[in-house]
Amino acid sequence: MTDPINRDGLRPRFWEKHPVDRLTQAEWEALCDGCGKCCLNKLEDEDTGEVALTRIACRLLDDTTCRCSQYTIRHQFVPECIVLSPQNMDRNLYWMPETCAYKLLWTGKPLFDWHPLISGDPQTVHDAGVSVQGFTIPEFEVPEEDWEDHIIEEPT
Ligand code: SF4
Ligand code: SF4
Repeated sequence: MTDPINRDGLRPRFWEKHPVDRLTQAEWEALCDGCGKCCLNKLEDEDTGEVALTRIACRLLDDTTCRCSQYTIRHQFVPECIVLSPQNMDRNLYWMPETCAYKLLWTGKPLFDWHPLISGDPQTVHDAGVSVQGFTIPEFEVPEEDWEDHIIEEPT
């Protein structure tokens, strides 16, 4: 399949050779494995701070490609969508998926072999069963008070 994320012209094995806060913008973007898990809605327990993942997806997620359908102009529709950067990683780690490449590298862990940067194939994240492909429910189909009926374990 065609890689929806541009991974051309990057320094070889850049994620192993350079600190994650010293990457080019293209390298930073290429770190995304395309799993789509960060686009699932989460429920946060006010008392414990615990975060539960649901299968209710952001209105812009296309769960066939696991990509945002309006990535470049998404803030026109979803102003609260977070733009991850080295400057805000620390305060976002608590809700990020365990397999997210940004979280892995930020916490000193290696990428998985199914990451497209390693496999050379954007399909491997789906074949490994790590992505949200084909199992989400659009958020406009379920009232927010019922989201807790759709809590799931993170696919890893
Ligand atoms: S969870 Fe991380 S790796 Fe997966 S789509 Fe989101 S930003 Fe990319
Ligand atoms: S706006 Fe796009 S990138 Fe942001 S959460 Fe929704 S689908 Fe994901």
